[in-house]
Amino acid sequence: MSRCLHLVRKESYPVQTLDDLLAGDVAGRTVLVRADLNVPLDGTTISDDGRIQATVPTLKALTVAGAKVVVIAHLGRPDGKIDAAFSLAPVAKRLGKLLDSEVAMATDVVGESARATVAGLQNGRVALLENVRFDPREAAKDDAERGALADDLVSLVGADAAFVSDGFGVVHRKQASVYDVAGRLPHYAGYLVSAETAVLRKLTTEPERPYIVILGGAKVSDKLGVIRSLLEQVDQVLIGGGMAYTFLKSQGTPIGQSLLQQDMVNTCGELMQQYSDKIVLPTDVVIADRFADDAQTRTVPVTEIPDDWQSLDIGPDTGAAFGQVIAQAATIFWNGPMGVFEMAPFAAGTRAVATAISESTAFSVVGGGDSAAAVRQLGIDEAGFTHISTGGGASLEYLEGKELPGIGVLES
Ligand code: AMP
Repeated sequence: MSRCLHLVRKESYPVQTLDDLLAGDVAGRTVLVRADLNVPLDGTTISDDGRIQATVPTLKALTVAGAKVVVIAHLGRPDGKIDAAFSLAPVAKRLGKLLDSEVAMATDVVGESARATVAGLQNGRVALLENVRFDPREAAKDDAERGALADDLVSLVGADAAFVSDGFGVVHRKQASVYDVAGRLPHYAGYLVSAETAVLRKLTTEPERPYIVILGGAKVSDKLGVIRSLLEQVDQVLIGGGMAYTFLKSQGTPIGQSLLQQDMVNTCGELMQQYSDKIVLPTDVVIADRFADDAQTRTVPVTEIPDDWQSLDIGPDTGAAFGQVIAQAATIFWNGPMGVFEMAPFAAGTRAVATAISESTAFSVVGGGDSAAAVRQLGIDEAGFTHISTGGGASLEYLEGKELPGIGVLES
């Protein structure tokens, strides 16, 4: 997952870590771990268990030390209601396989089953509570409501328990199991959270230059904050994916039926004017007569998208040009696919960028979500990247300079 942990300067990180917890005696102590086990499910089949694997080192370290480990996590967005489609039961099975030790699964979050499961937990074993988002208090705006769930979690594990934050993908959420419970128990950053924040800290503190960023994905508005703040910090921003067409439109380029966020056109125009020396847009594209993997396709200069066609990938010239910039870079951050990589005819641009990054010797970070999925789906060797983040939203908010509640609370 990360080959740069040796770069962490501990004194610059004002947080107690899992190693600090393990330096004491945890045998027989209950440790509540917030993990990010939000994996893609096809029915009850896990299609990518990357996030489960990423938290295994923390859980293993705790079980080897003899702790009673209670894991809390979410799956999908059940919106505060119990919904069997979002049960963590398949995750408990996979986690048990990866740990080589059966995981006891509670059928509720803090109810009778959770109490019985925690009470029956032996030293060195792991229990998983049911999807915390089944409880509407988890994501409540009201501090008291979230606090009530946090209190229930503390009474479940006991006031002498410790809390380990290992769900990097949720640290930007002010939620009961991420933020409020951490304030009620002695708290520590797990190995995954420590590794992820160390990498992002390196990107924000004197990165080696040239520092370039490649941004793609569907919506400009989702990433506008980070684009603005990155444009200040980096040497070049290469833009592909669906968001490129709002930028192109702002320059008067006809984009046909390609993805457009009309309300962002002016903002993109302003950014293009202010940062014309830093923003690089596609010069050729792969267009389709409809949004389908068996659509008719053509590769054309970006100025030649017909009115009734849409662009679904960057073209080969753009892929090669982006590749050249990538090859010269010393630091690279990539978030968002260059095209609709889920469909084979529109995957080449994302593949070109991912391959160029994996072949570079730069300090390279893939910012979670769809880009991480693309790397795995396209079969690109993960070892070619310095770090593949498990948290897309969290890493973008960190780079934007926002305070992440789940990290801030660990510093107190
Ligand atoms: P995001 O979650 O914002 O990173 O967006 C990822 C999604 O953007 C992926 O599912 C891609 O299929 C989609 N995407 C990338 N390029 C395009 C494009 N040119 N047109 C439509 N969707 C795109």
